[in-house]
Amino acid sequence: MVRFWHPVADMHAVSATGELVLDRAEGVHVWDESGKRYLDATAALWYCNVGYGRPEIADAAAAQLRRLPAYSHYGDLSSRPTTDLAERIAQIAPMDDAVVFFTSGGGEAVETAVKLVRRYWSLRGEPRRTIVVSRERAYHGLAGYGTSIVGTDTFTVGLGPLAGDTLRVPWDDADALAAAIDEAGPERVAAFFCEPIVGAGGVLLPPPGYLEAARRVCRERGVLFVADEVICGFGRVGDWFASTRFGLDPDLVTFAKGVTSGYLPLGGVIAGARVREPFWAEGAGIWAHGYTYSGHATATAAAHANLDILERESLPARAAALEAELAKALEPLASHPLVSEVRAGLGVVAAVQILPEALADDPSVTGRVVLAARERGILTRGLGGGGLQVSPALVIDEAALGELVEGLRGALDDVA
Ligand code: PLP
Repeated sequence: MVRFWHPVADMHAVSATGELVLDRAEGVHVWDESGKRYLDATAALWYCNVGYGRPEIADAAAAQLRRLPAYSHYGDLSSRPTTDLAERIAQIAPMDDAVVFFTSGGGEAVETAVKLVRRYWSLRGEPRRTIVVSRERAYHGLAGYGTSIVGTDTFTVGLGPLAGDTLRVPWDDADALAAAIDEAGPERVAAFFCEPIVGAGGVLLPPPGYLEAARRVCRERGVLFVADEVICGFGRVGDWFASTRFGLDPDLVTFAKGVTSGYLPLGGVIAGARVREPFWAEGAGIWAHGYTYSGHATATAAAHANLDILERESLPARAAALEAELAKALEPLASHPLVSEVRAGLGVVAAVQILPEALADDPSVTGRVVLAARERGILTRGLGGGGLQVSPALVIDEAALGELVEGLRGALDDVA
């Protein structure tokens, strides 16, 4: 009997086949309890940017656990690693004069950002600006507001009414975004939420000029631009943030995952001066929002050690250098009979798309390729739209990249 109710799982299937219990990890490899080794093609859920087995992160966390594991950060209370991490993130943030609100992960970051943009407009004297626009195929986590702005029905089936005043637009068309905002009335629209790369929805890379144009559309209409960089942030797309790489100057950035490389759960929202100002103004009063673990001191201590590694090993630059290598390594898979295309070329994020005709015949085909890959010692997973996720740690070397591509090819062959 499986007692662990897994997230995003078919528990009937898990109960029937059993769990794959992972035991340890080093670099880009993970071992299960039987001792079988896997190449981690996805850096778990896109998060282990620095790779596994980094003793300095473990040491930093252990030292902080002994000193002060955590304490409430409500009101004026803080802890040294958390106060310093906010300063450090502000230094690399894609906007000037930034401040940081911490959460325990990406879902809470999105939750915070939606509340933030609505309250922002209320404080600004425009309380009718409550509509939040997001993109079809977008993923923004599975908390209440994140579920309400998700771009895929899979996550909303059977839930009844979700948060109101949300609007979906095509994922790749800035003119459609402009038209949707104009139709709703810009005076009703609070913000546009945008993953620079649509991640869980399929690794959809932004068409050339799209992000810049979408940013312009928002600026021209006074609509806040929120970059959801939960996947992209902290090096994965060849810069500290996709927003820095594309010069987006967002109003808010949501982050998680790569900030600690997943060694401990941490996320947050970076706010630029425009959004911060009415909250921090005299007379604004308490913003009654936050979490028990907002800025958890052990998690922020781990984040410092993780950022030390990202900086010392220049991993954002390494990701930029890797993007062409990754695309080149995966390119031959595009001609496999079971594959329609490979999407790659922006950072260390890619998808191998299973042929739509094959998926139409048998929607389980992606899952079968994932299992075949597992047999061959490669851990990957299916994305929205039936692609295979490829987002290894930023430290992956040529040999491991070869191992990854050969394993995927073999798995595709097995199923074809
Ligand atoms: N936003 C994006 C773009 C994500 O990819 C994710 C998770 O994958 C989230 C938000 C939610 O983060 P979490 O799973 O930490 O709640």
